[in-house]
Amino acid sequence: MAFSLPDLPYAKDAFGEIMSEETFNYHHGKHHNAYVGKTNDAVAGTDLEGKSLSEVIKAASASGNKGLFNNSAQVWNHTFFWHCLSPETQEIPANLKAKIEESFGSVEDFKEKFKNEAVGHFASGWAWLVLNGDKLEITSLHDADSPVAHDMKPLLTLDVWEHAYYLDYQNARPDYVGTILDKAINWEFVAQNLDGEGVSRADQG
Ligand code: ZN
Repeated sequence: MAFSLPDLPYAKDAFGEIMSEETFNYHHGKHHNAYVGKTNDAVAGTDLEGKSLSEVIKAASASGNKGLFNNSAQVWNHTFFWHCLSPETQEIPANLKAKIEESFGSVEDFKEKFKNEAVGHFASGWAWLVLNGDKLEITSLHDADSPVAHDMKPLLTLDVWEHAYYLDYQNARPDYVGTILDKAINWEFVAQNLDGEGVSRADQG
């Protein structure tokens, strides 16, 4: 079965000025949708047809099929990203908070470090919070690259492609990153990813 564009887990106007309906119209309706269409075109009639999205990403990575890798990884990253956002400002669940404090000292130190990674990432890509063994780590990946291709366990991501923020924040990436981090993260989802529960949702494409 072909991949399809997943519905957003909230209304497109739910974030007000933090992330506008217009941004979702382009980012989800055009960009994400185009990655889905191109992935379907590339796997149609090949032995990857019918495989899961992460299987397609790994196969494309292993065979050096850059076009398929970029499009399929972008489908996965975007679906994961939508789940990382919440229109209501959430408290960080206690188990996740403890893990953050253990790994970074405090929630404020974690946010500062994540912000620096996201703002400092050169050009297009994604900032990630991942689980490595028992520890949380912050990293970033370029362009379409995805934790799926690196066997990382992703907990949280922030899209730092210009298409994610230009309509609402123009070139002010630090404002975008700071606002989303402080007001619009689905910390429940991030906490669910500690045991991999949330990640499987992104694999449905
Ligand atoms: Zn994007």
